[in-house]
Amino acid sequence: MPNTASDLALVPFVSVDDMMKIVTSIGYERFLTELAFYIEDDFKRWEQFDKTPRVASHSLDGVIELMPTSDGRTYGFKYVNGHPKNTREGRQTVTAFGVMATVDTGYPVLISEMTILTALRTAAMSALAAKHLAPAGSRRMALIGNGAQSEFQAMAFKALLGVDQIGLYDVDRRASERCARNLAGRGFDIGICDSAEAAMEGAQIITTATADKQYATILTDNMIGAGVHINAVGGDCPGKTELHRDILLRSDIFVEFPPQTRIEGEIQQLEEDHPVTELWEVFSGTAAGRRSASQITLFDSVGFAIEDFSALRYIRDQLQPTGYFSRLDLLADPDDPRDLFGMLTRSEAQAKSA
Ligand code: NAD
Repeated sequence: MPNTASDLALVPFVSVDDMMKIVTSIGYERFLTELAFYIEDDFKRWEQFDKTPRVASHSLDGVIELMPTSDGRTYGFKYVNGHPKNTREGRQTVTAFGVMATVDTGYPVLISEMTILTALRTAAMSALAAKHLAPAGSRRMALIGNGAQSEFQAMAFKALLGVDQIGLYDVDRRASERCARNLAGRGFDIGICDSAEAAMEGAQIITTATADKQYATILTDNMIGAGVHINAVGGDCPGKTELHRDILLRSDIFVEFPPQTRIEGEIQQLEEDHPVTELWEVFSGTAAGRRSASQITLFDSVGFAIEDFSALRYIRDQLQPTGYFSRLDLLADPDDPRDLFGMLTRSEAQAKSA
């Protein structure tokens, strides 16, 4: 009898094409809003999760990372890279895929592309943090660094906060032009600017999403006025930051998971015991978000495993309603679980008789 994989061994797989169909069938704004709810729900049960800084393998040109977590019932991890030089060769800076598994059997229950999903979850997390930290009624955002993440950031801030005026700045003007083209007709008033300062004029929110493997200074202290919210996305690796240290000293800093952010975030520039507030506490109501109109708030975003877990959980819940997935023959499934070798010999015999 030939071995056929049973349903349990066929793992739902969401390809890049499936992901695009899921996102467009749900709609960007609803997708980003619902994803933000999933992240907020998971952050509110923070204590149920295994938490560890991601496991990073650094090289001269970039980093390859594994980001695992579990809530005791479901396990998830993401494989992700960050290689700023890649775009020069026609590749993405960041690519990713992820896996979910049930803890009771260890069997994977979902494999998904996560390059698009990471951009969506990063944007949803940024906007969710800003909901608690940005000045009330914020409408205008400066978006500095107009690469792969940028449109997603704009869409999430529109969906969750109603931001509809964007000042774009990138050292490569073609990147800003592409971003403006992609966002055209989506309800934004967009201006392409010649400097970060110009993009920031009148903005209540400043998002930095640049990619450079160095201590960069995208923003200097004199550029930052009282009362703004800074959403710093691009500084997410040891030796890779975007803000001048003096800005950090004037800001109230909010982070995902301090042991990881102290290694990877803007705060790697500060003393190890510099006070920060954990966002799960803000979402749960046990710590304050924005407290005054003059306060400078800073979300030192690096991306944490629970956000990817939430994103995979959200996608898993969309499989049946949308139908956009296939099944992968991923797990060997012999009729007798201990007869793994027999499965091979039967396949061998079948090949010889064919
Ligand atoms: P990308 O390479 O597609 O885009 C980066 C853009 O920044 C480019 O257009 C580049 O020209 C521009 N840039 C570089 N230096 C600049 C400067 N000094 N001033 C203005 N613009 C400048 O990268 P991406 O995929 O959009 O990612 C952006 C950053 O966000 C990366 O550093 C990435 O590692 C990081 N990231 C963080 C998270 C997170 O969770 N925090 C998630 C995903 C990506």
